Amino acid sequence: MAEIETASGTIDSAALGRVLIHEHVFLMDTEYTYNYRPDFFEEKTITDAVTRLDELKATGIDTIVDLTVLGLGRHMPTLARTAALTNLNIIVSTGAYTFDAVPSSFQFWGPGLLKDVPEEPMISHFVKDITEGIAGTGVKAGMLKCAIDEPGLTPGVERVMRAIARTNRITGTPITVHTAPLQETGLIVQQVLTEEGVDLEDVVMGHCGDSTDIDYLMKIADGGSILGMDRFGVEFVISMEQRVATIAAMVKRGYADRLTLSHDCCAWSDFFPQVADYSAAMPRHNYLHIHQEVVPALLEAGVSQRDIDKMFVDNPRRYFEGVAKRFAARE
Ligand SMILES: [Zn+2]
Repeated sequence: MAEIETASGTIDSAALGRVLIHEHVFLMDTEYTYNYRPDFFEEKTITDAVTRLDELKATGIDTIVDLTVLGLGRHMPTLARTAALTNLNIIVSTGAYTFDAVPSSFQFWGPGLLKDVPEEPMISHFVKDITEGIAGTGVKAGMLKCAIDEPGLTPGVERVMRAIARTNRITGTPITVHTAPLQETGLIVQQVLTEEGVDLEDVVMGHCGDSTDIDYLMKIADGGSILGMDRFGVEFVISMEQRVATIAAMVKRGYADRLTLSHDCCAWSDFFPQVADYSAAMPRHNYLHIHQEVVPALLEAGVSQRDIDKMFVDNPRRYFEGVAKRFAARE
């Protein structure tokens, strides 16, 4: 058993239940939202999000991991109020999401920079989010997140990734990485994190589900990482049918204990002018898609209910407990 931090307090890993490993609740460019989306600050944003999260809970999901960090508009007061109104567990994340440069707040501040300090300042931010809580809410982060997309290991991406790795070593917090599987950036992640002493079993390799390349996916899994088959409903990348067939092929090769499922969707976003535009543009990209369409399709493709339960329950629980156990053994 392990203690897991959620937006509503600490829970035991046994209470994780059925988990969606990569979701969001509110996803935005915070500056844009503050200037042009007054609707975000209306009470309706929270009540609508609670309705959606409660609907998800009613389908049998108990926990989501919210991967909204710096660069994706994490707004902890709103998330904390939302979490208090739903029975769904929400694990909150810290870290930074960037495809190239570091967030501008760190541009001139760090080892060897204009404001020269001995230690990477991002680390103390992330550690504080994990040990004291985020933005005065008392909510502690239970997941670390960074990104490496098509541009690969730019200096900014590398700086964030190494800060995430070092925070993992200090706090024993699990890591999710947004990757670009078509560019095989997961292999770069495994190399950099290994250099930093991170156990690759501490890592969920996000967005592996965007790939149909079984050889690549097996390489990532053989390295020890959990695969995030986590963008169900993002149909402009690959179809649900392709995502399902890839999972079935991985299960056939014995990788059912390496796979996790998710949508990477949200309840409110400024990515479209209105929430209704989001649903119109991406009709399958909502919290209910896996329950309504993906699970039946997996069964149809020959994946057993037992293996599907592993992806929802056993794998996330073993992952979180494993990270905690390895950290305790090191201390
Ligand atoms: Zn995401």
